[in-house]
Amino acid sequence: MQPTDSYQPSLQDRLLTDTSLSLVIDQRGDVLMSYPVASESNTFKVLDSAKSDKYFSKGKMYQNIQEGKDGIFGYIYDGVQRYLSYYPVGYNGWYAVAILPIVSSMDNIKSLLIKSTIISLCIVAVLVLLLTFILIQQHNNSKALYEMGFVDPLLKIDNMNAFRLKFPAAVEQWKSKQIPFALALININQFKAVNDMYGFEQGDEILKQVASALQATLQENELFCRIHSDMFLSLLTCPDREQLSRAGRCTIGEEILPLSLTCGIYVVEDNVPFYIMVDRANLAWASAKQNAGMRCAFYDSEYLRKLVTEKRIESTMEQALADHEFKLYLQPKCDFKTGRIVSAEALVRWQRASEGMIRPDWFIPVFEKNGFVVALDWHMLQQTLELLRKWLDEDSEMIPIGVNFSRLHLTDTSFIQQLERYADEAGVLHRYIEVELTESVVFGNMERMKQVIDGLHASGFSVAMDDFGAGYSSLNVLKDLDFDCVKLDKEFLAKGEGNPRQRQVISGVVKMVKELGCRVVAEGVETQEQADFLSSIGCDVAQGYFYSRPLSVEEFEKKFKEQSKA
Ligand code: C2E
Ligand code: CA
Ligand code: CA
Repeated sequence: MQPTDSYQPSLQDRLLTDTSLSLVIDQRGDVLMSYPVASESNTFKVLDSAKSDKYFSKGKMYQNIQEGKDGIFGYIYDGVQRYLSYYPVGYNGWYAVAILPIVSSMDNIKSLLIKSTIISLCIVAVLVLLLTFILIQQHNNSKALYEMGFVDPLLKIDNMNAFRLKFPAAVEQWKSKQIPFALALININQFKAVNDMYGFEQGDEILKQVASALQATLQENELFCRIHSDMFLSLLTCPDREQLSRAGRCTIGEEILPLSLTCGIYVVEDNVPFYIMVDRANLAWASAKQNAGMRCAFYDSEYLRKLVTEKRIESTMEQALADHEFKLYLQPKCDFKTGRIVSAEALVRWQRASEGMIRPDWFIPVFEKNGFVVALDWHMLQQTLELLRKWLDEDSEMIPIGVNFSRLHLTDTSFIQQLERYADEAGVLHRYIEVELTESVVFGNMERMKQVIDGLHASGFSVAMDDFGAGYSSLNVLKDLDFDCVKLDKEFLAKGEGNPRQRQVISGVVKMVKELGCRVVAEGVETQEQADFLSSIGCDVAQGYFYSRPLSVEEFEKKFKEQSKA
């Protein structure tokens, strides 16, 4: 069997003059196949030029074909009587057609017509087989293509493309029923260690187990996919947050391995694009990751705001330092009895053209995290030294100034040398600089802290323990470390307000600190009552809004000079 083509004898030759012919035609009479081969054409048109015999009309044949019935049509062409039998093949409205030239008896006609019809049916059978083969092939190809694009090759579950594809329909359904839903990003903690310890094969096996355990927690219409390596994404309905946390709480087989998951969840509230939803789940995941021990965190816009601020601070800090946007402010430390300024603390203020003055609580924690605080501290020290140098040159009264140094300096072995170098370059005596170190650095760092304090003393600097009472400090620390001064944290003092027991504690602490030979500075003194109480229990120096807020250098000098004149 071959398809018809233009090099073959025409259908006209075959239909009207040749001895016999088998055809497959469609309902319009167009030839789909023929044997022997005839060039493609329309059967009905060719037959129009033939004359119907008296038994079988052409009209009847056309009608039968439209109605899917079989039949015989007789016609005369060139004086030769012919018969044409048509029979529906039951596929696509196609017809098997057999044509015979003149035959003497009706019995002969019948047997010849049957033979021709069988040939036509064979043609159709082969044709249908061929078509079925092509369709199966196509189906297999598209299945392979689908797998390449939408199925995770290792776990044989949906990949991100499939998830993305199914997402709109799932979401639409929940939206229409007003069921809230959420995206959960799930990751195996320390999966790299699992791979390192047990090898990739075992690692893959564990991934499969985790994926199927997670999938088992899904409910109807919820989606799940692997994004990459050990990162999964779920689309979940969320009746409440408590139930949602199940995303990060599945049990993983009977493994000996201490596997745990971290999960970030975005409860979809805004009409934002898919990639932003995933991004928010990712931010939640990052926040869970940052808090050790946290298995599951929810996205909240406050966190995002903080993150954005942090990024803005980080992207501008270097330029701000070069542009001298970090200004020196001084807060007086005053004698309780006389109220006179006896020293000061150097405090940084970030003067930004667009945002005005920014308090350090905003940016110091960010700088502590990224290490920039080290550069900033040196910058503040230099500004302090320049001011002291100026006072020396002006022959003004000299007082020591406390400078804050982050715990990050403690790991720097050249810290003291550097400090000496800056002071000496400015020509300022070391005793005018008081190094303020926060109490929290002592914790777990005793040896190094002792080294640093002893080194600073040997160089003639004085050392204050900042924020005493805020953290885990114990009086033991004070016993072993030779601080010149202890600064009581303002929160520690605030606790004493109207609480007689706490007041007793404060008074006891002050007494002990003084017995160890340290000066006591009380921070955050805001009221006369506080001042009276602190003075009565033996505190030496007060630093707080009751005496003065932190001042710009000009304001401070003005206040200080007035006092000197008096
Ligand atoms: P800190 O060293 O404990 O500084 C004292 C803080 O208490 C200052 O806040 C000061 O303005 C505030 N304060 C003073 N008196 C009162 C009061 O009566 N009531 C209240 N509520 N607050 C009072 P500031 O200037 O915002 O500084 C905050 C923290 O930022 C400082 O706490 C210090 O830890 C850090 N910081 C400031 N400047 C620097 C710096 O140059 N380097 C480093 N590493 N940290 C700095
Ligand atoms: Ca301080
Ligand atoms: Ca403090």
